[in-house]
Amino acid sequence: MTTPRIAIIGAGPGGLLCARVLQRHGIEVAVYDADASVGARDAGGTLDLKADSGQIALEDAGLLAEFRALARPEGQAKTRLDQHGTVLVAYVPEEHDEAANEIDRGQLRALLAAHLAAGTVRWGHKLHVATPLGGGVHRLEFANGAVAEADLLIGADGAWSRVRPLLTGATPDYSGISFLDARFDDVDVRHPRIAKLVGDGHMFASDNAGRALIGQRNSNGHVRGYVALRTGLDWCADLDLDDRVAVQRFLRAEFAGWSDDLMPFITDGDGGFVNRPIHALPAPLAWEHRPGVTLLGDAAHLMSPWGGFGVNLAMLDGAELARAIAEEATVDEAVIRYEKVMFPRAGEHAVGANEAMERFFATKEFDPADVPDTAEEHRASMAAAAEYRRLNPAVTTWTLRFRTPSGERRSALVLGTGGTAGTLDGVALEECELAGDDLRFTAKLTSPFPVKVTCTASIDGDRMTGKAKAAMMSIAFTGTRGAAS
Ligand SMILES: Cc1cc2nc3c(=O)[nH]c(=O)nc-3n(C[C@H](O)[C@H](O)[C@H](O)COP(=O)(O)OP(=O)(O)OC[C@H]3O[C@@H](n4cnc5c(N)ncnc54)[C@H](O)[C@@H]3O)c2cc1C
Repeated sequence: MTTPRIAIIGAGPGGLLCARVLQRHGIEVAVYDADASVGARDAGGTLDLKADSGQIALEDAGLLAEFRALARPEGQAKTRLDQHGTVLVAYVPEEHDEAANEIDRGQLRALLAAHLAAGTVRWGHKLHVATPLGGGVHRLEFANGAVAEADLLIGADGAWSRVRPLLTGATPDYSGISFLDARFDDVDVRHPRIAKLVGDGHMFASDNAGRALIGQRNSNGHVRGYVALRTGLDWCADLDLDDRVAVQRFLRAEFAGWSDDLMPFITDGDGGFVNRPIHALPAPLAWEHRPGVTLLGDAAHLMSPWGGFGVNLAMLDGAELARAIAEEATVDEAVIRYEKVMFPRAGEHAVGANEAMERFFATKEFDPADVPDTAEEHRASMAAAAEYRRLNPAVTTWTLRFRTPSGERRSALVLGTGGTAGTLDGVALEECELAGDDLRFTAKLTSPFPVKVTCTASIDGDRMTGKAKAAMMSIAFTGTRGAAS
């Protein structure tokens, strides 16, 4: 295809991941974000990146090892309490459980942004309006006066997307639940009671009558807390949220009858409260395909945070859209392929997440059956990840180790879906064919000297063994799935 001008609106996890995978395929892209810089605002709390979605996307981005270096597997721990502080259910991850590793949002955003070509993200560019010019081309006007045109406009601009109205009239609805975000710093020293309740991971306390306190361990001794209420959207109309004492008084009354042990979540925060009313788009949501424009992440399927799918799906959307663009003959075919997979997957997760939050905040007797079996969820995620890779055997990066006469030489092999294209150390393969578990490709190496090699290999799960042949020589190699750490 001729080089399309691709513009991504939004440098959140979805937009950045998409840009990174496009660049790995040698495709140019510009990302525009309203924020002044990557760290201009508090990115929020912790995120679990799941084996079968967020981690697959990171692998496509060649950043799984970098993620693991920052991630907190122990952060997968979860405790469910009642309002009296009684532990009802507790989950402690086993030693090698990495199915839903936690990472701070700020760390994830910085990691993704740091692995884009310099100048890719145009910070301080808030999209004001996008106007179709015909033939799939859009004119983009930004609040700072800048103007651009795009052959493919990707709306990764979150809950209140400015791109979404080009495709659907759907708008987010208030869920009936509001979170008040609080922060606790240096918890092990300054907030030992909070540190003990939250432990290494997450604490959920609920009175089964529409009120909850949630605490989540972040890195560097921080805990992010949420005071959650079933309430109207205008609950704080007569309350000044900057007046901490007034907000604490209001919340103490709301949480009357709760254990004093849990009250530090309301009384001891470092800094004020931030109101986060939870909204969701109607689900399932789809739109009629239109040339030159699509959505990913929250812009496409804003859902309740219950279950923690939002960021995982945003990143997988980004990776799959980028892969489709790299592999299909036209941008339009790529978007059609992406939307066909994204719609049903997002719809199913959104319906499930919205229902799960509704159940959690319902007024009823506590039923242990309502608490998800985390160990089982992790096993299912690992199995789903293996199945995803089986169905898309070529989507991952492989690290190849050639046994050359002068020692081991490592190379990064990236194969496209379908196994008909890819790169070796960033250089496009000349030929590539994947039939079942048998791989064959031809690549031109430039170092240590220019040579053309034909490699044949047999894939067995996450490993491959093969032979590389060039004129007058044949050397063995092995491969492991994933980028070298
Ligand atoms: C309280 C809470 C807790 C959550 N916890 C979890 C969790 O544990 N796990 C999980 O998976 N998900 C969680 N989520 C959901 C998760 O935050 C989102 O699903 C995820 O951030 C979506 O990523 P995104 O890239 O699609 O959008 P966003 O992260 O929203 O990024 C959108 C980007 O677009 C930019 N932007 C917006 N408008 C414009 C514009 N007009 N012009 C230019 N740029 C613009 C923004 O500055 C931003 O950088 C939670 C959400 C909430 C509210």
